Amino acid sequence: MSDDALPMKFKPYTRQTITQAPQWQRLPTELREAVQVISRVLPFRTNQYVMDELIDWNDVPNDPIYRLTFPHQDMLSPPEYAHLRDLVLVKKDEAAIEAAVRTIRMRMNPHPAGQMTHNVPFMNGQPVSGLQHKYKETVLFFPSSGQTCHAYCTFCFRWPQFVGMDELKFDARESDELVAYLKQHPEVTDVLITGGDPLIMNTRSLAGYIEPLLAPELSHIKNIRIGTKSVAYWPQRFVTDKDSDDLLRLFEKVVAAGKNLALMGHYNHPAELRPAIAQRAVKRIVSSGATLRMQAPLIRHINEDPKGWAELWTTGVRLGAIPYYMFVERDTGPSHYFQLPLAKAYEIFQAAYQTVSGLARTVRGPSMSAFPGKVVIDGIVDIAGEKVFALQFLQARNPDWVRRPFYAKFDPNATWLHDLKPAFGAKKFFFEEDSVAHIAVVGHSERTHADAAPRPALALAANG
Ligand code: SF4
Repeated sequence: MSDDALPMKFKPYTRQTITQAPQWQRLPTELREAVQVISRVLPFRTNQYVMDELIDWNDVPNDPIYRLTFPHQDMLSPPEYAHLRDLVLVKKDEAAIEAAVRTIRMRMNPHPAGQMTHNVPFMNGQPVSGLQHKYKETVLFFPSSGQTCHAYCTFCFRWPQFVGMDELKFDARESDELVAYLKQHPEVTDVLITGGDPLIMNTRSLAGYIEPLLAPELSHIKNIRIGTKSVAYWPQRFVTDKDSDDLLRLFEKVVAAGKNLALMGHYNHPAELRPAIAQRAVKRIVSSGATLRMQAPLIRHINEDPKGWAELWTTGVRLGAIPYYMFVERDTGPSHYFQLPLAKAYEIFQAAYQTVSGLARTVRGPSMSAFPGKVVIDGIVDIAGEKVFALQFLQARNPDWVRRPFYAKFDPNATWLHDLKPAFGAKKFFFEEDSVAHIAVVGHSERTHADAAPRPALALAANG
């Protein structure tokens, strides 16, 4: 399709406005009700491009991009759904709806992996809002005007940010504190600007966050990463938006300053990379000197087919992108609806990996972004008569844990690290021995946190 036929002006749809979308009338009543009910709990936002170009309306509700952006009844338990449906559609009791919604949200483990506790750094004894510092060399920065997205993914692990759970929200208004923090932390080499989606911002606002990172006193910052889903949900951002050329000039400026600029592109399904404009977006990003890495979680109902992953990675490589991560879906939000057993995740990853060129085998996975670090499943093997998962840390709170193989008893139903037990009769995994001592291994180590993690050390949970 030529660009002329595409939506050019970004037009989001929310719970309040989705009824105005031309496709809304095509939905049967029960699907419309599910949107109206579930979007009280989980954020809902889509846009005209996603609806016109990415969803096959003849295949709704099974179409993967429909599942990716539209709430489904099964995302709540049957009693929860029945209760909330009654309140929303029959009783229309706002106070009761609010109370029920809050209860459901708090059940959904809104902040996995100690995001709101152990990852928030301190400077001069005060927490620095809008920053996370989990791994020694990488700081995450959440600019306040980048805390929304061109559309919301139904599985998103950052969903609390989008539903006004203000006490759980974290964002930064400007980059002064980030720069001050980075000056005190010469061990940091990478800044990941994330959200939400920082590319929801116009180029001028984004430059206001990025350009200070190019200052000579921050020469230890080698890599600037931007986490974004715009490559899939609004590729116009790089091609036809009125400041898309300015955006590419900004990318070039970062590269000319001697930094590596890496876009961490969030692609869930090959359909997102099929439109010509999505392919042009990749080429324009790469031609600016930036790199584009592809990552996404493995999600039941959306991307379970190994052939889809192979198509995604192969197309990406052809266009100049780099396959990077297949994540395991986190234990938050409606995870029961999206999660797959680890054994199945490994099987899907292996089946996809086996069929692609060596150039696409830059991808790593399936990987869990858990509380102690990023744990990858290397294989399922028999050792000394015991069937085990072979695992290792790709990234860890304690750098000494990285690339140290360890083993867990095989469990066909396990969906997350906290489900696993050590193999070979061990009582604990090696990293549990000293996990408390290593919780503060990064910049915020100047202060011991009294905060409890939302789950036990091993137990915790990205695009990000
Ligand atoms: S997964 Fe990324 S793009 Fe999707 S809603 Fe979450 S932050 Fe936004």
